[in-house]
Amino acid sequence: MSKQLKNAEETQAILKVIAEMFPDAKRELDANNNFELLIAVMLSAQTTDKAVNKVTPELFKRYPDASALAGAPLTEVSGLISRIGMYNTKAKNIINTAKILRDKYGGAVPETVPELMELPGVGLKTATVVLGDAFNIPGIAVDTHVERVSKRLGLVRQNANIEQIKSALERKTPKEDWVKTHHRLIFFGRYHCTAKRPNCANCPLFDECLVGENYLR
Ligand code: SF4
Repeated sequence: MSKQLKNAEETQAILKVIAEMFPDAKRELDANNNFELLIAVMLSAQTTDKAVNKVTPELFKRYPDASALAGAPLTEVSGLISRIGMYNTKAKNIINTAKILRDKYGGAVPETVPELMELPGVGLKTATVVLGDAFNIPGIAVDTHVERVSKRLGLVRQNANIEQIKSALERKTPKEDWVKTHHRLIFFGRYHCTAKRPNCANCPLFDECLVGENYLR
């Protein structure tokens, strides 16, 4: 297999190895409905899922739907989520998002990327995760783990941006695997090919990796 940019067949062979390592990879954010899922994914930007799971139970207990959150005082919401990064901005965004859900969508979460991306604080990654997990509309959401792993393994070009990574991965994999691929790449990045200390010495993909040797020196 080439060490450089992988073709579709090589990409799928690599993803098969990752699937064997993490067969049960799934979303780790806690959410009981689509509203909670959207808010939890928004809160998870640049923060761990574990940290978000610690603040959302009380947040959703006090504000269980879009209408309740839309009317919430900013200081209270900020206080409830103050243990996670960028909590002030996130508090503003989730309240303003809740207002739009209440006023424009009758409290429901919209089901298209453009509609979701019109919500304050919702980017392509959040929209793709919500569509996949809430509505079973497939897509490979690209977060920091997916980007790092895809580049280290040469699944995408080194200078690819988030949209280019998403479309390259989707082009090289069957549609029915997109959501699973997203979760597996995240698990691989979170628990094996971590940002600072990847486990290259015990990596079944070492021979295919563009950078593994650098971490063994
Ligand atoms: S060899 Fe190291 S950097 Fe490359 S995929 Fe494996 S763990 Fe990640």
